Amino acid sequence: MERTQIQRARAGEVTPAMERVAERENRDPAFVRGQVADGQAVIPNNHAHDSLDPMIIGREFATKVNANIGNSETTSDIEGELRKLHTAVHYGADTVMDLSTGGNLDEIRAANVDHAPVPVGTVPIYEAVKHVDDPADLTHELLLDVIEKQAEQGVDYMTIHAGVLMEHLPLTDGRKTGIVSRGGSILAQWMEENGMQNPLYAKFEAICEVFAEHDVTFSLGDGLRPGSIADAGDEAQFAELDTLGELTRTAWDHGVQVMVEGPGHVPVDQVTENVERQQSVCDGAPFYVLGPLVTDVAPGYDHITSAIGATEAARAGAAMLCYVTPKEHLGLPEEEDVRDGLAAYRIAAHAADVANDRPGARDWDDALSEARYEFDWRRQFDLALDPERAQAYHDQTLPGDNYKEARFCSMCGVEFCSMRIDQDARDADGEMSAIDDETDLGASAAAEVNLPPVGSHDTSDVPEKVEIDGVTFTPEESHADD
Ligand code: SF4
Repeated sequence: MERTQIQRARAGEVTPAMERVAERENRDPAFVRGQVADGQAVIPNNHAHDSLDPMIIGREFATKVNANIGNSETTSDIEGELRKLHTAVHYGADTVMDLSTGGNLDEIRAANVDHAPVPVGTVPIYEAVKHVDDPADLTHELLLDVIEKQAEQGVDYMTIHAGVLMEHLPLTDGRKTGIVSRGGSILAQWMEENGMQNPLYAKFEAICEVFAEHDVTFSLGDGLRPGSIADAGDEAQFAELDTLGELTRTAWDHGVQVMVEGPGHVPVDQVTENVERQQSVCDGAPFYVLGPLVTDVAPGYDHITSAIGATEAARAGAAMLCYVTPKEHLGLPEEEDVRDGLAAYRIAAHAADVANDRPGARDWDDALSEARYEFDWRRQFDLALDPERAQAYHDQTLPGDNYKEARFCSMCGVEFCSMRIDQDARDADGEMSAIDDETDLGASAAAEVNLPPVGSHDTSDVPEKVEIDGVTFTPEESHADD
């Protein structure tokens, strides 16, 4: 049987996937191997996923972003699903989760795995419930069959909500928003109606064996995550987390890679504490967080409310962020929502990487700032996180080719472009010295390439002197002490 990345890392082997990851992350391959061997990072890489370009998820590496794709009951065609995959990867998703619940799930999943250069994740219980009339009819065998089939298809990681236990359910009674995880709520209903322990917990070791055979990575689901900031950090959430810690160690014992999912909705002052608690309880297994949203009041803008929490989480050690789109809580995201959600999350991830001094992270900012200061608009667009949007916004007001070399944009205009003024004020060595003369706009390079309405304002009504509280000001006097 082919071994998993963690088994090979423990045996001292640097696999081709580890070599590739080291190259992508600008790290030493031996360091990558050590992180994987110790369970501090995962390389989701199903043996059957041939189109994958290996990547790594761990707190010592660049923060990753996941995008959810997939259809609903009403929309399902493979071409449309592959377009969603393309959109997610195009806008920078590091992994995708296929959360399809309609149409031919097997065909869609197989097509996604065939075409995805990034790891593909799933939540197998979503497919399992499609095979029964009532979620209460799910059986242990059916769940295991679905998991095994998806592992054979090449799925790289699966969300398994094995940490929601019967004894945790009463802890959710006083909550404002109950159980908001889809998987968590289905399993809670199953346990209530069957009077039995969570089947994914009961069969966890059997699932480990399937995962070890195909090198599927666990994404241990947080079925009891808070769905409102009022429910954040309650007994139910942390009771489940303790179980996830236990399951992490069981998976490691079986030679299976593990990451652990986290909340949800958390006030910003509790985010760091959440990350530190998960890292401690789960012995440093990578933390994969959904947001968290730091306030509940902004439906329509939850890519922003959650990107704030995601930045804080990544700064504190979360390894992967599951994006949230502006449609969160409101509807299935469209392509433009995917774009906005991914932009918000890539900003969150990168901001944390800069703060955490990840190799190469700051270089990107410095390169863009240099292009900006040099008025190299094309390079600025190329370096932008979303080049197409950056150029589109610029060209909305200044579309001509001549404006690609202009020493200003329409935000401040040529007359007040501070960077242009700054540069004109410096000598040939770029140094400031005493400025005797006013900048001659007519002689500046900006004047040669632009036709702004400079000097075209009628100033005949502007008074030469202004009296305020009995004191008379002239333009000269008002600047006299500058
Ligand atoms: S006009 Fe303002 S925003 Fe535009 S380049 Fe100059 S300083 Fe920057």
